[in-house]
Amino acid sequence: MNDDMSLYDEDIKFPVEIEQYERKIYDLKQLIEISKGLNSTLDYNVLIDSILLTCMGQMQLLKAGIFTHRSIDRQEFVLHRNYKGFEIDHKNEYLIPTNSKLIQFLDANFRCYTLDELKELLPDEPSLENLIRLDPSLIVPLKGKGTFNGIIVLAERINQKGFSESDKEYMLNIASLAGIAIQNAYLYELATTDMMTKLKIHHYFQTALMEEREKSLKSSLPLSLIMMDIDHFKNFNDTYGHSCGDMVLKNVASVMSNSVRQSDIAARYGGEEFAVILPHTDINEAFKVAERVRISVQKSYILFKRKKLSITVSLGITQFNPAIDISTKNIIERADKALYVSKQQGRNRTTVLLSDNE
Ligand code: GH3
Ligand code: MG
Ligand code: MG
Repeated sequence: MNDDMSLYDEDIKFPVEIEQYERKIYDLKQLIEISKGLNSTLDYNVLIDSILLTCMGQMQLLKAGIFTHRSIDRQEFVLHRNYKGFEIDHKNEYLIPTNSKLIQFLDANFRCYTLDELKELLPDEPSLENLIRLDPSLIVPLKGKGTFNGIIVLAERINQKGFSESDKEYMLNIASLAGIAIQNAYLYELATTDMMTKLKIHHYFQTALMEEREKSLKSSLPLSLIMMDIDHFKNFNDTYGHSCGDMVLKNVASVMSNSVRQSDIAARYGGEEFAVILPHTDINEAFKVAERVRISVQKSYILFKRKKLSITVSLGITQFNPAIDISTKNIIERADKALYVSKQQGRNRTTVLLSDNE
């Protein structure tokens, strides 16, 4: 009789256990897919989007955002501009200092929290203010390879209220994968960025141009290149000193970055020489971009010993021509030749060269 009872018991438990195991297998399969997705890109913007859309899809949410390091200098955490659904007050910066109590607490007590839990655990913590403004229902810390690298904020579940313990555990698993992917993207950024100007380094530029040349060949979409050099920079350094020259370099780089699209690749080609790869852009469009950069540089200035100092730049541009450009070397040489013409003709101008025998 007893044996019969235990058999009967087993029969009842069995389907429930199967259901639990099936759920676990499903979750693990999902996590493998998420991991594949998050590890398939090193591009920061694409990665942030992919993390947020994953969270929204998995947890059925209407709002998601992520606080990540403002720049590769790793100052404070700011709400990344790719946030979804939140109504943002654009006058507010939404930043959290890396040395704040909040970050120290989340780093040491690594799990998901509701806003009310954090308010109770960290009363009077000023950096909570920016989280309170977003009114998230769950706050998930991000860590990659031991480094605290951000916070995910989630809100408004569709058809559900709050998060169960297993939801929180699942979110923390996604956050662990996201944290590693963010750390990898950060290390890649660091290895390919010129720290002085925050532009891409020469080697990255060469590789990117090769890739864009291949893409342009396949898609038949245009590809243009800008080469740019500061005018009389040696004179400037001799007059105001090398460190003042460095300030100018940084300013030119920032003006240039702000004058091109996010899809363009701006690089520091060498000392005071810059390059911009313009995918999907023909020479007429490239000319407009080059002139926008030139005029913006001319209008900008740095303050040195209370004096406004300005410089000008010369630019050379060309468009990739599959009929003559057997390698990227040809494209670079032609843009360089165009730049040389700009220098010869008096500087502070843009020259277009479309063929090698012009
Ligand atoms: P041009 O109009 O013909 O380009 O004249 P230029 O004086 O700019 O050209 P040149 O190539 O003779 O000089 C480039 C100068 O750029 C020399 C070098 O000291 C300066 N330079 C290169 N890299 C840096 C840097 O990182 N910081 C500073 N301050 N100067 C740099
Ligand atoms: Mg030069
Ligand atoms: Mg120069």
